Amino acid sequence: MMTQILTLNKWNPERDYISRAAEIINSGGLVAFPTETVYGLGGDALNPESVKKIYAAKGRPSDNPLILHVSNINQAESLVYMNDSARKLAKIFWPAPLTLVLPAKNIIPSTTRGGLSTAAVRMPDNNIALALIEAAKTPIAAPSANLSGRPSPTDSQSVYNDMNNRIDLILDGGKTGIGLESTVIDITNPEKILLLRPGGLSRELIESELNTRLGIPDSNSAKRSPGTRYRHYAPSLPVKILRNESDLDLLDIKSAGFMGIHEINKNFPVKIIFDSPENFAHGLFAGFRELESQKISCIIVEWPRDNSGINEALRDRIKRAAGE
Ligand code: AMP
Ligand code: MG
Repeated sequence: MMTQILTLNKWNPERDYISRAAEIINSGGLVAFPTETVYGLGGDALNPESVKKIYAAKGRPSDNPLILHVSNINQAESLVYMNDSARKLAKIFWPAPLTLVLPAKNIIPSTTRGGLSTAAVRMPDNNIALALIEAAKTPIAAPSANLSGRPSPTDSQSVYNDMNNRIDLILDGGKTGIGLESTVIDITNPEKILLLRPGGLSRELIESELNTRLGIPDSNSAKRSPGTRYRHYAPSLPVKILRNESDLDLLDIKSAGFMGIHEINKNFPVKIIFDSPENFAHGLFAGFRELESQKISCIIVEWPRDNSGINEALRDRIKRAAGE
């Protein structure tokens, strides 16, 4: 299958392009589209055949469930059993990089949920994504639009590189804003809300609205979030984390690429320096893809110095890329 690319105005998406994309979703096909986090690989979440195609296109293990993208809170209510805390967070934050795991209603096929009794829902903050979900009149299941294990795509070219000939259409809406995936919380039990995956919405913001700390999944609930079991976000070169400057003595700087906020050493042949944690997050995955095309033998990534705000998600993705 030839993958077509349509470029859209993200402030005012072309209606005919959105209709064409919605038709593909409704006939069981796959469409990649931008969100505020990363590009998603979308199919009809209520059609098991579409969902099987998503897993196949990505090479994703079928026990790793998908996030259902909705265009409003009512649509979420039709899919999962919301509780007051979930409603409160959805009302305050959505559209946002916040995914809520809740008990699933029967309307969601088991394949979409990876066989679990819960499902993950989110309303993305991107006009193209929202227009597509509305036009398709169905929730759209969408993992990141990369081959399983590869860095998530933050622009349409990266989607094309991984997905050409595997999906029907790519909606190109430019670079994504945040650059890391959504924050996933398990809110099945409102008395004990768990942070399953740090992401684009910081823990601090969620905790201050809930007036409580988010719990850490124990090994049982970690099993319930299968995505956290797999190696992720990895470029084709080995990734090493630089936690202390003195670690540089152990590394071969002359054959390494560097990514980080502080220019720690001038001798790296290639380096990508960001001026803030937000821009580091925005450019991490694109940076991995850029560096793996260079003549270097490894990628050295600076460890963010504290764990606040976006840094918690950044640290998580860096660790996974390094296979820690
Ligand atoms: P992705 O869309 O590939 O960025 O990943 C979605 C994340 O949400 C993965 O880590 C999944 O394991 C997680 N997820 C999706 N559905 C559920 C669920 N029902 N329970 C727990 N985690 C989920
Ligand atoms: Mg992913």
